[in-house]
Amino acid sequence: MYKFDTTDQSRPTYSIDTPPPYPSGEFHVGNALNWSYIDFVARYQRMKGYNVHFPQGWDCHGLPTEVRAEQTFKIRKNDLPPYQFIEICRKLSEEYIQRMKEAIMRLGTSCDWILEYRTMDPEYYKLTQLSFVMLYKSGYMYRGEHPVNWCPRDETAIAEAEVVYVERQGLLHYMKFGSDDNSLEIASTRPELLGACVAIAVHPEDTRYSTRVGTSTRVPVFGQKIPIIADEEVDPTFGTGAVMVCTFGDKMDVKWQKKHNLPVIKEITENGRIDASDPRFKGLKIEEARRKVVEELKNEGRMLREEPVKQNIGTCWRCNTPVEIISRPQWFMKTKQMTDEVTASADQLRWVPPFSKKRLIDWTQSLDWDWVVSRQRIFGTPIPIWYCKKCGETLVADENHLPSDPRRDPPPREKCPKCGSSDLKGDTDVFDTWMDSSISAAVHAGWPSNKGLFVKLFPADLQPNGLDIVRTWDYYLLVRSLAIFHKAPYKTLLINGMVRGTDGRMMHKSYGNFVETGEVIKKLGADAFRQWAASGGATGYDIPFRWNEAEHGKKFLTKLWNVARFITQDSTTGANAPQLTQPSTIDRWLLGSLQELVTTVTNAFDNFQFNTAIEAVRDFTWHSLADDYLEAVKYRLQPDSNPADSRNARFCLTQSLLVICKLLAPICPHITEAIYQEMQGVQEGRSIHSDGWPKPDKSFQDSVQMQEGKLLVEAIATARRKKSEKGLSLKSPIRKVIIKTQPSHLGLFEANQEPILRTIKAESLVVEETPSSEEGTTGLAVEIVP
Ligand SMILES: [Zn+2]
Ligand SMILES: [Zn+2]
Repeated sequence: MYKFDTTDQSRPTYSIDTPPPYPSGEFHVGNALNWSYIDFVARYQRMKGYNVHFPQGWDCHGLPTEVRAEQTFKIRKNDLPPYQFIEICRKLSEEYIQRMKEAIMRLGTSCDWILEYRTMDPEYYKLTQLSFVMLYKSGYMYRGEHPVNWCPRDETAIAEAEVVYVERQGLLHYMKFGSDDNSLEIASTRPELLGACVAIAVHPEDTRYSTRVGTSTRVPVFGQKIPIIADEEVDPTFGTGAVMVCTFGDKMDVKWQKKHNLPVIKEITENGRIDASDPRFKGLKIEEARRKVVEELKNEGRMLREEPVKQNIGTCWRCNTPVEIISRPQWFMKTKQMTDEVTASADQLRWVPPFSKKRLIDWTQSLDWDWVVSRQRIFGTPIPIWYCKKCGETLVADENHLPSDPRRDPPPREKCPKCGSSDLKGDTDVFDTWMDSSISAAVHAGWPSNKGLFVKLFPADLQPNGLDIVRTWDYYLLVRSLAIFHKAPYKTLLINGMVRGTDGRMMHKSYGNFVETGEVIKKLGADAFRQWAASGGATGYDIPFRWNEAEHGKKFLTKLWNVARFITQDSTTGANAPQLTQPSTIDRWLLGSLQELVTTVTNAFDNFQFNTAIEAVRDFTWHSLADDYLEAVKYRLQPDSNPADSRNARFCLTQSLLVICKLLAPICPHITEAIYQEMQGVQEGRSIHSDGWPKPDKSFQDSVQMQEGKLLVEAIATARRKKSEKGLSLKSPIRKVIIKTQPSHLGLFEANQEPILRTIKAESLVVEETPSSEEGTTGLAVEIVP
């Protein structure tokens, strides 16, 4: 168990704002990649001596759980009293949390479960409410009637970030407006909105319509008279160049309605039906209404033609229903005015990889509307507001009386402070779930009660999440923190890419390329899975899941285990105990390479390049240690060998194994701990994960000695390869080895006859000068004579 030590004053802290996933019950490979990255960093920082704050929470509220509750129990949200529905959602969340918690544990994640939290718990949502009250008082929150994106199935407002655009094949209907002798041809994909049509807009320079601007026309089927207006933002090449302005078909309509001060006709209801006095359409669903209006247009001879068209339709992120734009009173946060502040703040943070910053900045600059923070749902943090039914005055809850649920709690005062009426009604809406999760960094840090801790843990050192939630979680955290605390809530953003399927396409159950995290861990173990997460690709880029890469990870673990067994079993105590005195060329080479490895891996972790770290450790273990060094010193481990040589070899081997395990510990926590315990002899309370991160020993990094050692290792490796090419086993003796090299290296080989001859099992060594070799090359050539 890993714990954040609240009493520790000596160590610096390292705080992680771990994403609180919504309890879906599934911990998919994408989550597992995200959590692997977080755990690599947490373990690395812990080994470096930091007091790591690594909480884990659950973002319970909101649509996903409500939709699941509705599907599981075959009910709609309004079928039950709100508190029964909330209870169902809570139970469902709890069930799914347990499953996901197990998966996070199986992955070997070292989070501190004492810090676990749920956004649905009163002690958490009390803080969501407090942050709202503070922002309300400082003028960031307002209630207003503005058009917002709306899901007619879920009957709630949704944020721009929750609208998913999909391409669909639609029909462009060419309709005749006006009278027969003064008609106007208009193309639209949404004839059902004719009833809400309030104007026709044309481009001011479109000569086809220059005489028509300022006049009016009549809408077919519905019959209302509407003006023809000019606006530069009309695309004259689309359809006939004259477009319907309907309240509201899309965001452009919202803009035009405001700009040209047009009336608003609410034709679509909150549950996606037509609200018209016309009995032909009243109560019809949107799709039905479209068919009916088309039929009427045809009957009236006003449908000129129809042609297929590709449409980009906004749909609800949860239920895929096409989103409508509906105007009704909502709560908003003034985020639009924060664009420059958000951009400047994002610019000063460290983004890994750097391109993810652009995603946030582009997003903030693309937003047209303020953030709508109210939702017409049930399972959410209540909005702590009451309204006077007589004069409309707003009463906000007292900060000291939170949490509060205005759906059942009494208002903060008995009477309206403005008109004295006692007819006060609590808000029945709830907050967008991002209102809960966008204060996570502050809540982890002990806000608002623990000021001492807050100074240490806020802003979070690390904000780790997927590229898919930069526009939501990272953005909302930033705007809320800037507005409440006047600074960004995090210092470094570590953004992971998405995991693609085994075939490189997006992972999807229907593609047959879907992989369960549990399946991989069951087959190959968590350490192999985590190696795949580290080595799969550069941080921030999408990576495919490949079984062979995870299997390669497993193979490496087997190799490491075998090497470790060899070293630990051989590591004698007493006279032959590992000890370094006058290391040989090859010893110095190994220890020098080990120091280089420490530097490489440390830099890689500091820069979140986990693929570089794992590749470097695997390469060193497999090649430098196992293939080259171990083979070249086996003879020194024999009972008849020179004791000093033997002690040196044992020292180099155990030292390398220990350092490799430490460098690997953040990525493969299980096997490294097992080897470490084997090496140290199991001791109470000792763990590789708290034993400190290795530091490079500069005394072994002499470049001349390193180069000589490398040459020697290369010569031995070449001779071994030549033996195997000639079909000779490594053990079979040969007569002679001939090494040709540059004059400056002749002494090196002459001085290192023993390791060469004993490793190659040759009787004699001949060292010759290379006749001619290019400047800067070693000129090394090796021949063997069987
Ligand atoms: Zn929906
Ligand atoms: Zn009042």
